[in-house]
Amino acid sequence: MKLLLPFLLALATPAAEPDWADVDRRALAFLQSYIRIPSINPPADTGKAAELFKAELERNGLAPKLYPVKDGMVNLLVRLPGRDRTKKPLLLLNHFDVVPVDPKAWRLDPFGGIVKDGWIWGRGAMDMKGTGVMHLFALILLKQSGITPARDIVMLSTADEETNGINGIRYMIQNHWKEIDAEYVLDEGGFGSRDVYSSNKLVFGISVGEKQAAWVRITAKGTAAHGSQPIPENANTIILEAIRKALNTPDRGKPNPVVEAMRTNLQGQFSDNKFIRAIQGNTMSLTTLSSGVGSPVKVNVIPSTAVATLDCRLMPGVNPAEFFSEMRARINDPRVTVEQISDPADPGVSNMDTPLFRALRASILKQHPTAVVTPILIPYATDSVRLRMKGVIAYGISPMVVDAATVATMHSDEERIPVSEFHRGVRIFHDLLKSEF
Ligand SMILES: [Zn+2]
Repeated sequence: MKLLLPFLLALATPAAEPDWADVDRRALAFLQSYIRIPSINPPADTGKAAELFKAELERNGLAPKLYPVKDGMVNLLVRLPGRDRTKKPLLLLNHFDVVPVDPKAWRLDPFGGIVKDGWIWGRGAMDMKGTGVMHLFALILLKQSGITPARDIVMLSTADEETNGINGIRYMIQNHWKEIDAEYVLDEGGFGSRDVYSSNKLVFGISVGEKQAAWVRITAKGTAAHGSQPIPENANTIILEAIRKALNTPDRGKPNPVVEAMRTNLQGQFSDNKFIRAIQGNTMSLTTLSSGVGSPVKVNVIPSTAVATLDCRLMPGVNPAEFFSEMRARINDPRVTVEQISDPADPGVSNMDTPLFRALRASILKQHPTAVVTPILIPYATDSVRLRMKGVIAYGISPMVVDAATVATMHSDEERIPVSEFHRGVRIFHDLLKSEF
């Protein structure tokens, strides 16, 4: 017993809490430097961002590896070994690249790393440099504290998410899968909010699946003629009718288990907004319409062809071919063709009942004891779909409380996040990495 005592004491004594005031100061300064690197995609020149991460990791005793792909695109991977090496790692996934800006539209310099009135502004603050720095600091703090995590933690920062991931996640999966081979991934996707999911209720949505981008081109063929004498074979009127019928395709989707889980967790009280509507069923947006003869187009010529595209987003598990054949049947016009022009991947949704999900919920509740934590679907695409295709359980979460207006600044000319929520996000991820899963 005597011999055991020091050992037991060591187990019972929690490692000292980080000096949070110091961590907050360092993490914010780091995020400012990171936003000041204009890693716009295209061209996704992410070398400087990778060097910034590499230097910070090396300063803290970690050994990151850089993976240059081409034209300045660089991916970074770093591993912190865990106690149980037989378990596959947890992957923290973020991306270095950001979407372009229209500098004239910005009131504040998009690459200034400006902190003002409790907000940090700039391209990438929301998508997803803020979350990337949370991952980075959670990992560094774990290393500094000397705590060995339950399993290996791998962080991957990719060069190319905003285009199609070919030189980012897809490159890494194709060429370096052995170094990743994770059981779980934490990526972007969901977030916490008091208004987005349910009004006046603090809800953290963790995305466990995403919709399929199934795009379609509708072409109508008619007869070219003089605009002075209307005819029924006008390609424009044919396509208008076809689009009207297509958009009226009823959503006969089966109840989705994630939507059902949301309904239970939120007691049926969903907010009424485009995000919540979009994650409950199949959607269609008419995104392009083109026709007309000549350049500039002639007003007095009835064209023989008109073309439209619909951006259809289908629930996981819906078969696009069946969806479009039903659309064809509704249009039911031999002058109209409906072609599927994208081939979405559908790996389904990730298991919502795992030790990692429970650990994540506990870490969120520690910071926000009154929050409801629920799995959600997201209407847009992330890199997670590539990992789900490899059998990885993928969750998307930027653990900040943001309102709908702030979420809408993503990709806009007012992109920003609240500094206090950025700091809280570091604590949530740090707490998670220390826990058992
Ligand atoms: Zn993103």
